[in-house]
Amino acid sequence: PLVLGIETSCDETGVGIVRGHTLLADALASSVDQHARFGGVVPEVASRAHLEALVPTMQRALTEAGVTLADIDAIAVTSGPGLAGALLVGVAAAKGYALAAEKPIYGVNHLAAHVAVDTLEHGPLPEPAVAMLVSGGHSSLLLVDDLTNGVTPLGATIDDAAGEAFDKVARLLGLGFPGGPVIDRTAKEGDRRSIAFPRGLTAPKDLAAHRFDFSFSGLKTAVARWVEARERDGEPVPIADVSASFQEAVCDVLTAKAIDACRANGVGTLLIGGGVAANSRLRVLAEERAAKHGIEVRVPRPQLCTDNGAMVAALGSRLVAAGVAPSRLDLPADSAMPLTAVSVAG
Ligand code: ATP
Ligand code: MG
Ligand code: FE
Repeated sequence: PLVLGIETSCDETGVGIVRGHTLLADALASSVDQHARFGGVVPEVASRAHLEALVPTMQRALTEAGVTLADIDAIAVTSGPGLAGALLVGVAAAKGYALAAEKPIYGVNHLAAHVAVDTLEHGPLPEPAVAMLVSGGHSSLLLVDDLTNGVTPLGATIDDAAGEAFDKVARLLGLGFPGGPVIDRTAKEGDRRSIAFPRGLTAPKDLAAHRFDFSFSGLKTAVARWVEARERDGEPVPIADVSASFQEAVCDVLTAKAIDACRANGVGTLLIGGGVAANSRLRVLAEERAAKHGIEVRVPRPQLCTDNGAMVAALGSRLVAAGVAPSRLDLPADSAMPLTAVSVAG
């Protein structure tokens, strides 16, 4: 099927078009620069930016794919989870296009779309698989048995998301926003073994209750204390070493728990998605550790890991192919959409 996907859950306005597993267009407009001076995404600013960017982004996607709205078999749109106002812009636009062009509409789950996007790069995902989604808003381990039926949460962060930790640590190091890419670059000049930062929820007593959960807020505080102590002593802060050691602490815990989740569930495929999956050290460490247990690691290319419209189209395409009924035209924008719902029921 030829499916168009619309994504507006956070600060990226994305429109993607796919045919089956083939990506035809992936148009993106980001309001990330408008949030930089606030050090995080401002919901009202994001909603307004979506409103301005959506129609031009839609036009670009159709041109890029060389198709018209009339050619499209179905329209998929992120129904949730995400920022309520931002989601509303995409959902309202999708309804307008669906109504005008008389197309079925699928309101889909943003997290399930992060899982589905990998098919555009590596083909169908062998199921069952474990998916680790790590972004600015989420850090979850999921068991994927049949994506069209929903996913089973295995664990999640109990405080900050992994990307949020990157953003907060970058801010305290004066590196700017978003923090992930700049820490990734800065860390390349540093020694990841130079500072022993804490590995959250990995002590035996924590593992008993939180085997597949994450915690990054203690790590962020440890970095802040370490930097403060240096400054108090009048010593320069070795930004590259701090970045590399912080990044290592995050990647160490993420990969160890993801592989433990695969082994505990007898799963041979680990999929990593979300913006933090773009991290170069995370990719290397995951590959290294998975190889020891014969586990295949799948990570889509960085542009597909961060929020985009193609991921929504990819999930829509999977739902259409599986014969899942479309959503009703009065489908909601659901900022707290649960993981058990892959799409809004018809
Ligand atoms: P949501 O959580 O709802 O998916 P989001 O906008 O936070 O929304 P993404 O766009 O997938 O999600 O990811 C953005 C996050 O990924 C930011 O926190 C950013 O710092 C982080 N990130 C991006 N590139 C890297 C990288 N190379 N290393 C580490 N983190 C990264
Ligand atoms: Mg984003
Ligand atoms: Fe996302």
